[in-house]
Amino acid sequence: MVALLPPQMHVFVRDWLSANNILLKSPDGHVLIDTGYVRHAPFTLALLRSKRGLGQEPLAKIVNTHCHSDHIGGNATIQRAYGCPIALPEGEAPLIEKWDTKALWLDYADQQTDRFAVDEVLRAGSTHLWGNLEWRALQAPGHDMGALVFFNPEYRILISGDALWENGYGLVMPRAIDPAAVPATRATLDMIAALDARVVIPGHGEVFTDAASALARAYARTAAFETDDARVARHALKVLLTFRLLDQQRMPLAELPAYVERVGMFRDLNAACLRLAPDQLADLLVRELARAGAVSIHDGFLVPT
Ligand SMILES: [Zn+2]
Repeated sequence: MVALLPPQMHVFVRDWLSANNILLKSPDGHVLIDTGYVRHAPFTLALLRSKRGLGQEPLAKIVNTHCHSDHIGGNATIQRAYGCPIALPEGEAPLIEKWDTKALWLDYADQQTDRFAVDEVLRAGSTHLWGNLEWRALQAPGHDMGALVFFNPEYRILISGDALWENGYGLVMPRAIDPAAVPATRATLDMIAALDARVVIPGHGEVFTDAASALARAYARTAAFETDDARVARHALKVLLTFRLLDQQRMPLAELPAYVERVGMFRDLNAACLRLAPDQLADLLVRELARAGAVSIHDGFLVPT
């Protein structure tokens, strides 16, 4: 079998709470792309220090595809351990500098991360030598309006973050909240399609090679989103609730109506697109997530499956 990735690349495939960690090794300095969720930061550090990771060697740089909690959560811990700089997309840098917890979907989405500072800004169109490979930083707005993806033309490897997964992409804001998000999602898919990537390293899930099929699924989802804003909102709410459940493991079912009323992103998505009473919204989310097999109910607790 031909290796999918050159030997100096290693991907730690994580779960849905922590984004994948991509290690690019080089005698010029090792680079880590995305650091997972804050609760998993000690485990991310352990992976990095393992034999498959860096062992005893230093880390030269942390890079982020975008600044959501499941991609930046280990930044502070790993920076403390290695004393290395953090480089992130130009569009995200002001949000990190101000620590804008609403725009970063932190307390606004009931998600956490340890605070850190920006050391280096990555501009769209710039080229970087990481792991002895050339990576082009390309603007990939949609799920996150400031996101970048990284493409290596030599091996046609795409590090796609949450702009393209094997089955879908990261949640998108409905038009009623951000009119630019769904159109940007389509434009980003067009940009990715034109790259003709041979291998895609997504932010979540296994590395995959059939980019065309992944794009077809992503386009189908986008087409549905374009005609149904309420569907975009329901999808976003279900993703957010699943993330919360993965983080805290279980939630009393009786607390869910108050929860969706209290947390800003739930409240705003509901007010903009669904306009349901909190208990109706809670019912809808539980019903749809249970039908999809994503959650179940045990002794009055909602648990992820
Ligand atoms: Zn994200």
